[in-house]
Amino acid sequence: MVSIEIKKISDSLKMVRIGVINYFKVSDSILFDAGTSCTARKLIESGEAGEIEAVIVSHAHFDHITGIKELKKLEIEFFLHRDAEKILSKEKVVEIWNKEDDEFCRKSGLSHSSDLYIRPQPESRLKEVAETKNFEIIEIPGHSPDSIALFHPEERYILVADSLGFPLSDGNLPMYFYSFREYIRSIEKIKSLEPVKLCLGHDGVVTDISYCDTAIQSALKLKEEIENGLDEGEIFRKVYRESLTLYPLETLKGVVKLLIKRSLEK
Ligand SMILES: [Zn+2]
Repeated sequence: MVSIEIKKISDSLKMVRIGVINYFKVSDSILFDAGTSCTARKLIESGEAGEIEAVIVSHAHFDHITGIKELKKLEIEFFLHRDAEKILSKEKVVEIWNKEDDEFCRKSGLSHSSDLYIRPQPESRLKEVAETKNFEIIEIPGHSPDSIALFHPEERYILVADSLGFPLSDGNLPMYFYSFREYIRSIEKIKSLEPVKLCLGHDGVVTDISYCDTAIQSALKLKEEIENGLDEGEIFRKVYRESLTLYPLETLKGVVKLLIKRSLEK
């Protein structure tokens, strides 16, 4: 059984958490992140997708983008970072995403769907759409090269997706998959905006800005451990736990390899 939690976060913001995937709805009309195909279907079935006009994808990872397969059945415009758009055009990548989506949905006890093809709106219009809701688009590479956050200066919340790592009951799993340095820099950037609500991509919202420091500290710690020779098996045990066990094994093995690579990079 996949749980659904619907929660008002701020005047203009609502969270619809479906299992491990967080969807954020801005003024009911903009959806931040597409999630996976099965969670997107749940979102539609829950009646929460009815007024959505546009979907802004935070970054091109399967658990944030494959929901497009279901959402595109509605009359919705899609917005992606220019680099995400490039990634989406690669057949091989889409094939891997479909496999990951398939396995994630199977492990969640839900069925997936195929065919990810969409024609995203030009990125120039993303700014326009974000501005109609008083958002600032913040580029935060580090987790992935195409990661974006949406910051609402009046209500002081920020939608950060995976840029602060993955929340675990005893802290945080760092996710510097693209660049360690950029990951830390991105978190510093988020922190400097002084948001009062950090809306994460998974497992809810954090209202304590010190979570940014937690994310930085856990990244520094893991990097140091890896530099000191922490082996793959031990890293895997840090990664493969709690709701992360819902992810495909191959994806998590890839995560371990990336963390090692980025930790040892100059
Ligand atoms: Zn991600």
